[in-house]
Amino acid sequence: MAGSAPSGSEEPAHAPVPGAYGLFPARSDEDAFIGGTWQELAPRAHAVALWGAVIFGAGTLADYLLADATASWIPLLLVRALVLGIGLRLAWVTRPGSPVAPGLLRNWMALFQLALLLGQRAVVQFHGSASSYQAIAAVMACLIIYTYAPMVRPLQLWMMPAWVLLAIVQMLTLVPTPPRTVLLFVMILGFVNIVGWRLATHANRSQRTAWLDRRRLQWEVAERMSAEQNLRNLFEASPVPLVLAGQRRGQLLHLNRAALDLLDPRRLLPDPSQVSARDFYADTQTGHMLTQALAHHEAFGPVDMRVRDSSRRVLDVMVSARKLRYDGRRAVLASLVEITHRKRQEHELQRLAHTDPLTALHNRRGFFVRADHARRQCAPAPLALLALDVDLFKAINDNHGHAVGDIVLQQIAGRMAAVLREQDLLARIGGEEFAALLPGLSGAEALETAERVRRAVCDHAVRCQGLRLQTSVSVGVALLEAGDDDVDGALARADEAMYRAKQAGRNCVELQGRSARPGLEGELDTGAGPASRIRRASALAG
Ligand code: GH3
Ligand code: MG
Ligand code: MG
Repeated sequence: MAGSAPSGSEEPAHAPVPGAYGLFPARSDEDAFIGGTWQELAPRAHAVALWGAVIFGAGTLADYLLADATASWIPLLLVRALVLGIGLRLAWVTRPGSPVAPGLLRNWMALFQLALLLGQRAVVQFHGSASSYQAIAAVMACLIIYTYAPMVRPLQLWMMPAWVLLAIVQMLTLVPTPPRTVLLFVMILGFVNIVGWRLATHANRSQRTAWLDRRRLQWEVAERMSAEQNLRNLFEASPVPLVLAGQRRGQLLHLNRAALDLLDPRRLLPDPSQVSARDFYADTQTGHMLTQALAHHEAFGPVDMRVRDSSRRVLDVMVSARKLRYDGRRAVLASLVEITHRKRQEHELQRLAHTDPLTALHNRRGFFVRADHARRQCAPAPLALLALDVDLFKAINDNHGHAVGDIVLQQIAGRMAAVLREQDLLARIGGEEFAALLPGLSGAEALETAERVRRAVCDHAVRCQGLRLQTSVSVGVALLEAGDDDVDGALARADEAMYRAKQAGRNCVELQGRSARPGLEGELDTGAGPASRIRRASALAG
């Protein structure tokens, strides 16, 4: 499409409506139309002007053969030359590659047609005969002007009926013509004018309406392209990492700079568009979660997930995503906000909330959270619990001060931890009270462990600030039973056993009072040696 396409950013000021002749009433709109369709109008005007002028000029030969009086030869030649000159001028204005010039086209076109029509009448006048031959030429000129020559002035339409009237007057007065020929001329030219007028106005209207539609379409396309460009710029300039990926296979379609900085900070990927978004998932769980979310929702998030960058470094990110269509295919636009630092802080805060600052063991809250988790993981394997209380600790505080008491607590904690397995969970759940969770241990094994812990505390005195302090712990042992939904019940039973150990003289191990596991006492027989300070629950119950 040629001519003056609308600029991308400007909406067409108004949509003009073609008037009575199918032309735009305002000259400026006509100029815009001619300018916008120059590539179609100019060649047509050029053909009409060139061939019309050449054929009219070539009529000189007929003049020469037909003109009987030498007096009319010179005026005939002048008329031919004038029309030929104007026609060639119009042909030049509309030559291929000519600059767009609506005013010139409009004026030279009207002038050429006027000259052609009047010239034709002059030729008839000079020859004064061959009226049927002239009538045929008139019909052809009418047809060409109405249907082929671009209509750019109302004058062009009115020129034709006026010219027919002039011809009739000429036939009736100046050039004697048989009445039958005049009648025939009137009928044929009258018909050609009526049909030609209608065809011309219809063609004018449809050409201009089509041009308006084209202009509107061009503007809309330009608007869309500009909106898309704006979106691209926004996407690119966004400080939030944005990723556009195909929905089916996850292939990356676009990453903005922020996303590249996040996912490929060292620019290790030669071509990120060859990579799938799935290559960045830190684990299969993340991939599964995203697939599920996209299968059931148009948009989801923000959700926390873990990704790996191109150098396989794990990052915590908060992701929001939305399905959309991009370039005719289904895609997902995701924004990623890195929260690795925040996650680390959260973990640190949680660790602090679950840690005892004095001994660095789990505190009571941490113990219950971890114990519950271990209980679920361990099931249906057995799980044993120890309740441990430092004996006569108040006396240490009273005699040597609170600071010494703190050191003693730290050392006791260290000794107990040293004899437990890695998977065991030791916690300080109160002032001088500890608890230990022993996954997978039977009653006998738990008693053995409890005895090992007791000995680890009492076998050697605690050395602190030049003092040698003999310490011990009383231990209660309980097993998690089938009806236990949490560890609270088992800990309460272990506590109860521990108090019995206190009553039995301290520095000994007691098993829970009533066991749900038959044969537990049997296990005890193989549990500890004769020197053991383990007391049987059954004996105490007695
Ligand atoms: P028992 O053998 O019956 O358990 O006697 P106990 O003296 O150990 O028991 P009691 O409950 O009478 O005393 C516990 C003491 O532990 C009282 C308290 O001052 C002390 N205590 C609690 N928390 C801390 C702590 O964090 N640091 C120090 N140094 N002492 C603590
Ligand atoms: Mg206590
Ligand atoms: Mg105590």
